[in-house]
Amino acid sequence: EKIKDLKSELSELDKKHFLHPTSSIKMQQESGPAYIFVKGRGIYLEEISGETFIDGMSSLWNVNIGHGREELGRVANEQMNTMAFSSAFSTYSHEPAIRLAKKLSELTPGDLNVCFFTSGGSESNDSAIKMARHYWKLKGKPERKKILSRKLAYHGVSMGATSATGIPEFHEMTSSLAPDFVYAPSPNARSWSEIEDVDLTCIDETIKIIEKEGPETIAAFIMEPIQGAGGMIIPPNGYLKAMREICDKYGILLIADEIITGFGRTGKMFGVEHWDVTPDMMTVAKGITSGYIPLGAVIFSDRIHQELIELSTGTLFHGFTYSGHPTACMVGLKNIEIIENENLVQNTEQRGIELSKGLTKLEEKHWSVGGIRNKGLLGAFELYQDCTSKKRFDPSLGVAKRVVDECLKRKLIVRPITYEGTDTIAIAPPLISTKEEIEQIVSIFSDAVSVVE
Ligand code: PLP
Repeated sequence: EKIKDLKSELSELDKKHFLHPTSSIKMQQESGPAYIFVKGRGIYLEEISGETFIDGMSSLWNVNIGHGREELGRVANEQMNTMAFSSAFSTYSHEPAIRLAKKLSELTPGDLNVCFFTSGGSESNDSAIKMARHYWKLKGKPERKKILSRKLAYHGVSMGATSATGIPEFHEMTSSLAPDFVYAPSPNARSWSEIEDVDLTCIDETIKIIEKEGPETIAAFIMEPIQGAGGMIIPPNGYLKAMREICDKYGILLIADEIITGFGRTGKMFGVEHWDVTPDMMTVAKGITSGYIPLGAVIFSDRIHQELIELSTGTLFHGFTYSGHPTACMVGLKNIEIIENENLVQNTEQRGIELSKGLTKLEEKHWSVGGIRNKGLLGAFELYQDCTSKKRFDPSLGVAKRVVDECLKRKLIVRPITYEGTDTIAIAPPLISTKEEIEQIVSIFSDAVSVVE
């Protein structure tokens, strides 16, 4: 009774005072929050009513090491008590940011060795975009300012990051965006067989766009190694390498947005490692602290850094109050230590093999399931009215949403993606998941899909 009272009190306050991120304002007013979570342990989240859910999305693809790791709370507490905050502007510095920057330089591929800190993914991408333009301006080529992105890309919601996002809904909510953004097609492969057979016409299309815009007007190409929020799109082998070569040919900087794919999510420390590509800048956030505290970063190649050193004449007029927040950096260091000590990247690779097997069985068992795919613990499947012809369900049926609701009834949180009329179910459990937990997730999928078929 007491809990019920508390939930209805919180629900009323929520409606009145809390504007939720990426949510339906109307629905919030009609029904209030459906779930109010109070506790997290391992891959589980506990709701105020006492019900326990599997966090099948690692919340927002970020709680990589799972919930409730007290070591992270302890280092945050220690750092807060010692020196919660001090500035990193100008000539001020502190050990947590220095140590984390060094650690990131060791973890990231190639010569990505120099780190600029932010508080999250959008800030990282905005910073990378601005730094790319800054770089070209310093090099005497201010006309190189366009940012080439891709359709269905998701790079965040700050002005530059939204502008680089290629999902129309995010553009339509506002009357204008930042200028000088262009969009190339994404490989748009939604199943393993598509990935294998895909013809790489999107690469030719991209070249055409570059030629039309004028290569000398393009500062950078930004891409997620695997497109997440736009539909969990894994590129065909060869795509990333081809894009690296195209960027080199036209002198365009390559920015890899590893905000979802970083820190072990795909069974490698970073997504680009699957295709052996090193970008000029890498943006990270989310898994860097497993969501325990906000933090992000842009990691630059030595080459770019060296040129910035040689060409810059005064202050770099770009820095956030929380660039290199000491407490956040300490949490990041401890989080990375856990990922390394507990072999979570290898665990993810192994669990990914099991997830792939489970999804294959799901596809065999259910006529509506197709387009299964995953890299490590980043996966998805599609729901089709007819898998053979890839005929989709009428969007008004809301099939993906119904499957997700059936999963929720069975205490599994996953996410529907319905852009471009798709019915995609995304899955990204914490990297600590066990074989049994992966089996349980797939078994819930099967029960949930049965209800809809
Ligand atoms: N980039 C990618 C690939 C993302 O998935 C996200 C968030 O989901 C972002 C950028 C934005 O990050 P944030 O929400 O921390 O600003």
